[in-house]
Amino acid sequence: MMGPKQETQSALFYEFSLEDHVPQDHFLRSIDQFVDLSSIRPHLSDFYSHTGRPSTDPELLIRMLLVGYCFGIRSERRLCEEVHLNLAYRWFCSLDLNDRIPDHSTFSKNRHGRFRESGLLRHEFETTVARCLKEGLIGGHGFAVDASLISVDVQKQNSSNPEDWAAKQIDPKDAPRAVREYLDTLDDEAFGAATTVQPKFTAHADPASQWTAARKGPAFFAFSTNYLIDTDHSIIVDVDASRSNKTAEVGAMRKMIDRTQERFGLKPDWIAADTAYGSGDNLVWLTLKRQILPFIPVFDKGERTDGTFSRSSFAWDDDNDRYICPEGKELLHTRRNYSDATRSAPTWKAQKYRALKADCMTCPSKAKCCPNSDVRAIHREKYEHVRDFARKCTASAYNPTAQKRRKKVEMLFSHLKRILGLGRLRLRGPCGVQDEFTLAATAQNLRKLAKLKPLVPAAG
Ligand code: SF4
Repeated sequence: MMGPKQETQSALFYEFSLEDHVPQDHFLRSIDQFVDLSSIRPHLSDFYSHTGRPSTDPELLIRMLLVGYCFGIRSERRLCEEVHLNLAYRWFCSLDLNDRIPDHSTFSKNRHGRFRESGLLRHEFETTVARCLKEGLIGGHGFAVDASLISVDVQKQNSSNPEDWAAKQIDPKDAPRAVREYLDTLDDEAFGAATTVQPKFTAHADPASQWTAARKGPAFFAFSTNYLIDTDHSIIVDVDASRSNKTAEVGAMRKMIDRTQERFGLKPDWIAADTAYGSGDNLVWLTLKRQILPFIPVFDKGERTDGTFSRSSFAWDDDNDRYICPEGKELLHTRRNYSDATRSAPTWKAQKYRALKADCMTCPSKAKCCPNSDVRAIHREKYEHVRDFARKCTASAYNPTAQKRRKKVEMLFSHLKRILGLGRLRLRGPCGVQDEFTLAATAQNLRKLAKLKPLVPAAG
């Protein structure tokens, strides 16, 4: 039987409890148990005036931002509308039905002011990592590091080449915020000082961003988000923003490793990363200066692609300080017998090892070894011992496990873009980018905590 037509009838009084209307197994309830904002007020106390009108509760703003980043609501205007309409969001933000939602402009005012000056978003990220530690989700033995390009909200049409940009007279006082931040970070290793290579284009609206074609497709303006994760449960132990080039990303990795040790006393036994982190300098830093095993493919310019023997075809004989070629002949850096033995002893400097001309000229493999020269020579880098050590690590039985775990950081980036919707940045300038990446990493850690330790509804 068809029921009566639904008519709109406004009741005069309602008995309504938000607590009853949010399901006990709602994902936000699981997230809520791990959100600790108790330290916000003491943290911000010095940044508020003791007189004047009371401000919007900073805890409310942070909770709303967490809702936005956890559920991929990027626009603050839309976030205000969603929190206004969604009962679960209201419950999470401790807003009753009659409570007013803050205006969207409140977010930018606080972000550019006291949130940024006090490092509040960083503080919240570290509070979440500390909670992950307390819950036993961080083993601290194996870390993985990687960077992902996030495109910037600027147009190629509004950019200049370096000469035009250098010719512009910029008065920092009149410049937009993103340009002032760019000028402030010119000496920062993650931004201006990362490389001396002039970019092809500089965006007017966000000059700190990098014009890059690293995705092998059309070039675009981007920043890199750098993640350092613990590979046990894919918890992000540190996050940092940088320009999108190898030097800046390696610098970000070093900064994150040191900061994680300083803040949480965590230093991994090993770290997994891709070839971008496999330069000799970086391997020396990891192995000799920080005593961390690198499961990182060595960045090797000695590999050849024309079918001739690569450097890896020559075996290194450490005891006798020589290479042995595929035909069994030796390559030495000197064939002189010095009376002072220290003059021919192995040293920490780049050396050139050569075969004997008599061996090469009569060799059946010459066409595959040195078709354009009389004799084959091999360059041995200054820190080749360290690079050899890294090669041994990547050839070890544990490497497949380490590389499998490394994939977890790529999964996090995929999740960041597809589920959290951070495929394109909304804020501009190094500080805005840092804020977005820090909030997104906090949201990802909270979601992970909620997923691994869901709130069990009380029986009955
Ligand atoms: S050409 Fe010289 S270095 Fe190369 S395989 Fe032959 S003997 Fe060895």
